[in-house]
Order: sequence, then structure tokens, then C-alpha cells
Amino acid sequence: MNLKIQFTYEADVVVCGAGTAGAIAAIASANEGKKVALIEQFGAAGGSATLGLVTPLMHTGIEGNPMCSYISQKINGKLIEYGGASGDGSAFDPQMLSLVLEEFLAQDNIKIFYYTFICDVLRKEDSIEGIFVQNKSGRGIISGKVYIDATGDGDVAYLSGADFKSGDEETGKNQPVSLRYMLGGINIEKFREFLAKYGHISDNISTAMTIPNRNWPLYPIFMEAIENGDLVEDDAVYWQIFGVPGRKDTLAFNCPEFFDATDGVDFEDLTHVQLHGKMAIMRQLKFYKKYLPGFENAYISQIATMVGIRESRRIVTDYMLKADDILAHRKFVDGIVQSNYPIDIHGRKLRLEANVVDRSFEGNRPFYEIPYRSVVVKGIDNLLVAGRCIGADFVAQSSLRIMPTCRAMGEACGIAAAISIDNNIDLHKMDGSRVRKHMIKRGAEFADNI
Ligand SMILES: Cc1cc2nc3c(=O)[nH]c(=O)nc-3n(C[C@H](O)[C@H](O)[C@H](O)COP(=O)(O)OP(=O)(O)OC[C@H]3O[C@@H](n4cnc5c(N)ncnc54)[C@H](O)[C@@H]3O)c2cc1C
Repeated sequence: MNLKIQFTYEADVVVCGAGTAGAIAAIASANEGKKVALIEQFGAAGGSATLGLVTPLMHTGIEGNPMCSYISQKINGKLIEYGGASGDGSAFDPQMLSLVLEEFLAQDNIKIFYYTFICDVLRKEDSIEGIFVQNKSGRGIISGKVYIDATGDGDVAYLSGADFKSGDEETGKNQPVSLRYMLGGINIEKFREFLAKYGHISDNISTAMTIPNRNWPLYPIFMEAIENGDLVEDDAVYWQIFGVPGRKDTLAFNCPEFFDATDGVDFEDLTHVQLHGKMAIMRQLKFYKKYLPGFENAYISQIATMVGIRESRRIVTDYMLKADDILAHRKFVDGIVQSNYPIDIHGRKLRLEANVVDRSFEGNRPFYEIPYRSVVVKGIDNLLVAGRCIGADFVAQSSLRIMPTCRAMGEACGIAAAISIDNNIDLHKMDGSRVRKHMIKRGAEFADNI
């Protein structure tokens, strides 16, 4: 095997993964004047939000839905301008987001490495000195002063030897995974009329079911299809649809869901889900055509390139966010993100503790905060982590994993990296409130300032 180094690149900030959090981290650092390298295994930015077809942005559960990210606000605005999003920008077309992100990433001081896989880390004592990557040009080393692990799975932290947790502390199992898809050619009006007969009346078609929810209007139809052998039970455990702005004949499906092959860092499980996911999508398409008015001419318009991973490695950071922090709506002096999204653990039996969300939006606007210390990787001098793999227990992660929160973490990390470099401040000793102040100065809306 030829492991010679064919190329090298030096930046100030190396962002690993151009996904939900990583793309924003790169833009944030570049906006602070840093030279940024952005490494991505696929040929597009956005990660789960684009290649995983995850839409819409979940509501933060806070009145006014603050994004805690000026970049997220700008992206949402641009998507609305292009007709690729509706409302406050939360409902969006993944394909349009992919284009908009690249518009924001097209800056002289951002060097994008697409089709480039992070395969190892060069670590000296407690610092990272470079990221080993592999692409069609060969093997390279990309180095910088600060590294941001936004790979979703904490690949960089893991390869650096940082500690991590994974799965439910009680069962060891990771959250279920899904392979999302979109169908075109649907007569939405006809389907909407059909749903209305079952009591579902909404302009924005969005509905979900789980088997235990026997009151769900379409429950009898799913049960009939299972009895007839047209669906299997798992098809009906979690089924969710969303309208897609700008696509009048399209629905996005948050399924099929898998409850057993759930290890997001095991290629066998990932392969299994892609192969069996496609079979399930075909089965579901046949079901819609047979049982649901409006689907007569439906066709598969997109299947996710990325398997939808809800939770895999959770990297050990200076502060590990706990379930209790979320349930108690805990605030931190170094809070960089705010959310009131519920604890949302999928499974054949849902563990959804909806009581943590006060959707009345009255009183003191309950929400919790994520402290800056939860993105600083323990034991490594120059590594931050952003996205679903930050330091948190299993239950806390189930709430913080939503996209608005991941984007805000990316922004916080991008800004923290710049402050650290400009002022020669140790990431572990940085005053996180400084990061949040800077985010607000740039225009980020927090619950306290809207
Ligand atoms: C099925 C499903 C449905 C969901 N539904 C919603 C929803 O409706 N609303 C909501 O707000 N949230 C939802 N979420 C949660 C949310 O989508 C994710 O938690 C969030 O997008 C994760 O962002 P991230 O930046 O951590 O990872 P990602 O967005 O996945 O980004 C990681 C990036 O790193 C790249 N990468 C990884 N490893 C490497 C490597 N070794 N080398 C190079 N590149 C690498 C990946 O290709 C990817 O681009 C859902 C999640 C799932 C799985």
C-alpha cells in the first residue's frame, strides 16, 4: 500500500464535516477573517439537512423561535427569497439549502475539500497537528491552529483518542436510524381532502403516527395494510410526512425507521439500512398507491444519500450536559445556545417526555442552555466539537440534536476558534460568555434579546 503524502494544506481553522453544524462553523470563522479548510466526504454541504433529506428545522420550543445564530437567520432569509422555504424559513427544500449553503461558503478564505474522507489524526502530546485525509488525488494532511469536529459521529475526536459515550446508558442501544425519501407526483389537494375526512385539517401537510397511538386517524388503514401483507409492522411504528416549500406535488417522509441496525459508525449497519431502506421505500410507495387517494401517480424523487443517524458517539467534553439540565431549564454563564425542544427518544416504544416543553409561550419562556464547555473536547488543547456529537448524556442529546441547535453550535465554535486564535486564548480557559456576546453582536437572536 502506498501511503505517501501527496498534498498538504495549512489553514487557521480546520472544520471537519460540512454538514448542519460544520458548514455554519466554516462560515462563522471565515466571517471573522480566518483562513478555513472545510473537509467533506460527499460532494455537497449540509450533511443530514441536505444529503440526509432532513426537513424541516424543528421549532426550538421558545417563543419567537430564536435561532441563536445570525448565519442560520441569513440562510433562512435567503431560502425564503429563493422560494425554497416558507414561514420563518423552518420548512425548507433540502436541495435548495444545498445551493444556498454553497453561496455562503463561496468566500476567498474558505477552501472546500469535497470528496475527501478524514481517516486519521496526527496528534502530538495534547494537540492535534494535522488531519489525514484520503481522496482521488491521494493522501493528504490538512493542518491548522484550531480544529472543529462537525462529523456528526465525532470521528476526529475519536481518532485523536478522546473519550466518548454511545447509546442509551440503560440498554447500550443507539437511537433508531432512518432512511428518508421524497415522493413527487402527488395530488396534494386530493390527499388533503382525504386527510380532512379523518379530522386532519392543516394547510401545511405534516402528520406523524406510531403504533401505540390508536387515535391517529390513519391507524386503521395502516393496520389493514399490515393484515393484507402490504406493509410490515415496523412501517407503521414511525411514519411522518412534511410538505416541501416550492414543490407543489411533493412530500418528504421521515421514515422508514430501523430499530435494530442502529450503529451509525458500523459500515455493516449503514449498508444494511441503505439496502433494506430502499426495499421498504418501494413497499411503502405501493401501499400509498393502493390505499391513499392522491398518490396514484406518485414516484420516488429522492432517496437520502446519508443514512439518518440520530445518535452515535457523544464526545466527552469539559462539561457533559445532563437530562436534568434540560428538565430543570438550566442556564449557564457560558450558555451559547438556547432550546426548549423536548426529550425525543425514538424506539418501538417512544420515550417522549413532552412535558418538558411549555408550548404556551407564557410566563418566563422556559428553555435550557448549552454551555460553551460542552463543545470543548476534554484532554485535547485545540479541538472543539459541534453538532449532535457534543458532550451530553443520551437523554440530553435526544433534545439538543435538532438542526437549529446544531447550526448555533457550529456558529459558536467558528467564533470561539477565531477569538482563541486572535487573542491567543486557550480554548479550555476561554470565557464562553464572550462567544455568545459576539454571536449577538453579529445579529444572533437569543430569547433574551428578541
Ligand atoms: C431521520 C432523522 C430525522 C430528523 N428529523 C429532524 C427534523 O425534522 N428537524 C430537525 O431540526 N432535526 C431533525 N433531526 C436531527 C438533525 O437532522 C441532526 O441531528 C443534525 O442534522 C446533525 O447535524 P451534524 O452537523 O451533527 O451532522 P451532519 O449534518 O450529519 O453533518 C456531518 C457531516 O460530516 C461529514 N462527515 C462525517 N464523517 C466524515 C469523515 N470521516 N470524513 C469527511 N466527512 C465526514 C458528513 O458527510 C456530513 O456532511 C433528524 C435526524 C434524523 C437522523
